[in-house]
Amino acid sequence: MNKKDTEKFKKLLLAEATQLEEELSGIGKKDPSAPGGWDVTASDMKVDTADDNEVADRFGELEENTGIANKLEGQLQEVKSALERIEKGTYGLCEKCAKPIEIGRLEANPSARISIKHGH
Ligand SMILES: [Zn+2]
Repeated sequence: MNKKDTEKFKKLLLAEATQLEEELSGIGKKDPSAPGGWDVTASDMKVDTADDNEVADRFGELEENTGIANKLEGQLQEVKSALERIEKGTYGLCEKCAKPIEIGRLEANPSARISIKHGH
């Protein structure tokens, strides 16, 4: 991969990381005790804890947000690790065969680790 392509994917990855962090900050806050981890918070509406339905709603929301946050965290990890590969000069190489990953595949998913042949 030439330098121009690498720069292009780096920009895409940085934009994706920013977007993922924005989405995560909408449902939680950074967990200071776990790097890369996020604490999920339910929305700040006042909950009447005497009202069972409201408490159940709140738990439902928290559970749903935790699922979303886990997915976003996973994506963010992939993006960060792709950025690390750019720094190391191994970006765009298949982890199974060490051959360059198809540009089209990287355009669809800039954090892809595996070529089309070896992916699923
Ligand atoms: Zn491969």
